[in-house]
Amino acid sequence: MTSLDASANASSSASMSAGTPSVSLVGAGPGDPELLTVKAMKRLQQAEVVLTDDLVDARVLACLPPTARVLRVGKRGGCVSTEQRFIHELMIREARAGARVVRLKGGDPFVFGRGGEEVDALREAGIEVEVINGLSAGLAAPASVGVPVTDRRCTPGVAFVTGHNGEHGIAPDWAALAKSRLTLVVYMGLARAAAIAQALQDGGLSPGTPAVIVSAAHTPRQRECFTTLAELPAAIEREGLPSPALLVIGEVVALSPQWREDAGLTGAGAGGDADAGRVGEPLATFRAA
Ligand code: SAH
Repeated sequence: MTSLDASANASSSASMSAGTPSVSLVGAGPGDPELLTVKAMKRLQQAEVVLTDDLVDARVLACLPPTARVLRVGKRGGCVSTEQRFIHELMIREARAGARVVRLKGGDPFVFGRGGEEVDALREAGIEVEVINGLSAGLAAPASVGVPVTDRRCTPGVAFVTGHNGEHGIAPDWAALAKSRLTLVVYMGLARAAAIAQALQDGGLSPGTPAVIVSAAHTPRQRECFTTLAELPAAIEREGLPSPALLVIGEVVALSPQWREDAGLTGAGAGGDADAGRVGEPLATFRAA
């Protein structure tokens, strides 16, 4: 922390023009403050006014100076559109008043974080904005349970998708995703897991496709459950996994050392030797090539 403290003092918001009202849109990562970028930590240590989401971990907020004014603007239970406008107005007001304003968001501000909408609103108001990436839960949660989101032996890539069904934007095309062979990382998918699992199977994805639910990754409350696509809804109910949680679906899940150790892999074509063969196949192909 000492060298970070020193460099934080030496460099203020270098990319922002002096005197122009500005806001730093900062990604807080999934929880553990050690996963903040150095740049994010610098902005936190210099902040005067901080607008923070519900998802931001208390340990990250503890990195703020005691003098910082922290405004909690989470949307839980609120009317979404009114609140978003209110957040924009608050940021604009504080920036115009000359404060060093940090807008702090869980994970990455540009991944399901309305970062784009906030940047638009600030720029329209003549406020300068810098965006500082955070480690998105969609990368951090799978890795925390030993799952690489891509692996050339079994997938051509990864799709980060919302589990919402178009209520707040565009719904994913589950049938197309089922055929894509991409690893599927589903944000906000807990409540609709049964419908999602069904839609993927209807689209042709095998019921035995490995899956994992990761709840509260990189927090002391982290829990995970390895399962299969067909058993995903039952596993969520049985384990009572709480929000925030991610669903990760795809062959890469079986690359985790934890996959084989999980006792629940007995149904829907998964588990045992059949599973070992299915997962082993791409590896053999890869070695032979
Ligand atoms: N901007 C955030 C995502 C916000 S959307 C990011 O980049 O991570 C909120 C969703 O993110 C939650 O419903 C959940 O699906 C996921 N999420 C956020 N933090 C998480 C965590 N610590 N563990 C698991 N999932 C998380």
